[in-house]
Amino acid sequence: MPGLLHKYRGRALLILAGACAVHCRYCFRRHYPYGDDPRRLEDWEPAFAYLENDSSIREVLLSGGDPLMLTDDRLRQIVERLERIPHLTRLRIHTRQPIVLPDRVTDGLLALLKSTRLTPWVVVHANHANELTGDCAEALRALVQSGVPVLNQAVLLKGVNDDAEALCDLGERLADLGVQNYYLHQLDRVAGAQHFEVSDERAAALMTAMHARLPGYAVPRLVREEAGAPGKTPL
Ligand code: SF4
Repeated sequence: MPGLLHKYRGRALLILAGACAVHCRYCFRRHYPYGDDPRRLEDWEPAFAYLENDSSIREVLLSGGDPLMLTDDRLRQIVERLERIPHLTRLRIHTRQPIVLPDRVTDGLLALLKSTRLTPWVVVHANHANELTGDCAEALRALVQSGVPVLNQAVLLKGVNDDAEALCDLGERLADLGVQNYYLHQLDRVAGAQHFEVSDERAAALMTAMHARLPGYAVPRLVREEAGAPGKTPL
């Protein structure tokens, strides 16, 4: 279905935008055919109809690219359309913008998240505590204080965060901001990112170090995306 991915039971994903505010070297969607996805609101109707026709779907994930590349008005139109599908109960937004473009956490966005009948979850993407300073920390606080559960996923990257100190700092910083340290991803093997790869043995040793130093709620789950698996694969 154009713009819609339905990989996992109970939830489906809308690819709302092909662009991001930053282009991560290790991006797992760098070869995704964004040009084929709907642009105008009416072009999304087949995807909305698919969601309407499958009552097992409870949650819609807004993804991309970055769904916060859309204006607040366009986001509101899409959320209002989703609200009209009775069996949907949750809305999840996957975005790196609170980290790399914190001004995007606007009053309008917060109002939308607070007012929707769907329970909102926001999943951000920070890899290092050095990203979580200044206006980025303020943006995350604004989301948390508006009552939205905020989770973080990081990618384990050689030379960036593949040491216990960096990962514990990230866990501490997220906990200070009230953000759940949700996933630590092993890298997807995309072209041009081999130099970031960390072995599973090293990743396991880093997890052990984190368990020894952080409270349990600040330790992420180490996972990998595997084609055909019913969810993320825990390592
Ligand atoms: S923010 Fe996510 S989707 Fe965008 S370039 Fe980075 S990894 Fe890819």
